Amino acid sequence: MPAPTPAPSTPAPLAGGTQGPHALRPLLDTTPHALTQGATTRNGPLPAGGPHAVTARIRATAHPALPETGTGAHESLHTLVRALAEDSADPAHPHCAAHLHSPPLALATAADLAASALNPSLDSWDQAPAASALEALNTEALAALAYPTRPAPDALVTTGATESNQLALLLARENARTTTPHTPLQIICGANAHHSIHRAAWLLGLPTPHTLPTPTGVIDPTHLHDALTALRDTPTLTIATAGTPDKRRIDPLPHLADLCDTHHTPLHIDAAYGGALLFSTTLRPALTGLDRAHTIALDLHKLGWQPIAAGLLAVPDTTALHPLAHQADYLNAPDDTEAGLPDLLGRSLRTTRRPDILKIAVTLRALGRQGIGHLVERVCATAHLLADLIDKHPRFDLYARPTLSTVLFRPTHTNDRTTAHIRRQLLHTGHATLGRTTTPDGLWLKATLLNPHTSPQNLTDLLTHVERHTPT
Ligand SMILES: *Cc1c(COP(=O)(O)O)cnc(C)c1O
Repeated sequence: MPAPTPAPSTPAPLAGGTQGPHALRPLLDTTPHALTQGATTRNGPLPAGGPHAVTARIRATAHPALPETGTGAHESLHTLVRALAEDSADPAHPHCAAHLHSPPLALATAADLAASALNPSLDSWDQAPAASALEALNTEALAALAYPTRPAPDALVTTGATESNQLALLLARENARTTTPHTPLQIICGANAHHSIHRAAWLLGLPTPHTLPTPTGVIDPTHLHDALTALRDTPTLTIATAGTPDKRRIDPLPHLADLCDTHHTPLHIDAAYGGALLFSTTLRPALTGLDRAHTIALDLHKLGWQPIAAGLLAVPDTTALHPLAHQADYLNAPDDTEAGLPDLLGRSLRTTRRPDILKIAVTLRALGRQGIGHLVERVCATAHLLADLIDKHPRFDLYARPTLSTVLFRPTHTNDRTTAHIRRQLLHTGHATLGRTTTPDGLWLKATLLNPHTSPQNLTDLLTHVERHTPT
């Protein structure tokens, strides 16, 4: 084979080193410029026209994806960032309220740029000396927020509550194996649990979760008592949720923790949404009982205003993470570990791993617990305000007062088909994104309010949009 000939031009500049920032700066002018142009053209929470129109525009702009010769850094960056911004659902718009899709803070986004530039990888210390130390410090602080009375709580950084839930089930499975090696772990969850619990059980080879009915929206402790009694000879893990996917409610955590204690069985709490109340002095009591869980899933890319991904799995004691210990000579050779190089492999099932902790650390330091708590209080207050407006409105019904920052409502005298149609019309016109929740008495629109800048006028306008798409 002939030796490869080097390309004629100088290679594209790198982001790191002392020269990297010089190469970055002009590109950083291009990115905000393209973001502004895209957002200005869109002029709303999402593009009009639905999937067909968006796909056509993206294909027209971004084709060919792999040209034979490139267009250059500025053209490519400007064209594609602008196209993405123009046709994005923008969580920073007050009428983008369909999901737990958070508008990231500017400072967290700026920190994320440094994470990309330095690109530490948290699978071995020699790839991430500072990032691993920063991660240890911040996960300790966040674990202490979740488990304030424990001497050595810990937390793993994950890609989100889906991964946190998987890890929680895995840890419980491994613990159960040591005491009852021949009986598989049985998961018990409410019908209100997140879908990822079922997937995690499937992935880990566990039996289908025993699912408790939750007609009120939360687990009834008597149902859990009956299930734990019936399964008393089987190892179990009970799942409770703080911020359920549908009605966004909090399971009765102290009652469920009492029952798990009585039956000597572990409890996992999926607090992907509600966990952020921990930051607020006034709202925190709603999470009483959280610190009795054996594992807790938290998600700072929901209430926490982080760019994706920013998940955590907290445990009351760092020794609970031992089942994840793993050894690979090229990453954590025993003699390196013995010589004092931190062993990072046991802190994730991933190998190459982004320093998602940097943006989190910058946010925690910049805003402090109170600052983040105030943001959480603001969005919860905004939800109450929307509920008040709906309550007073002659053409809307409110499902219930909000527990967190989500409001379920629908036009009076609607039917499910009409409600579903209204949601799609709002999407299609680009006026608003709202979620949907099916309850025993039919379909409701769901507004998930995560934007701390949403004003009362924004809420009135949102209802006006819904009303405009409601048939009379
Ligand atoms: C969002 C959510 C999840 C999934 O978390 P990801 O961050 O999307 O992986 C799990 N459970 C609950 C209750 C959630 O709200």
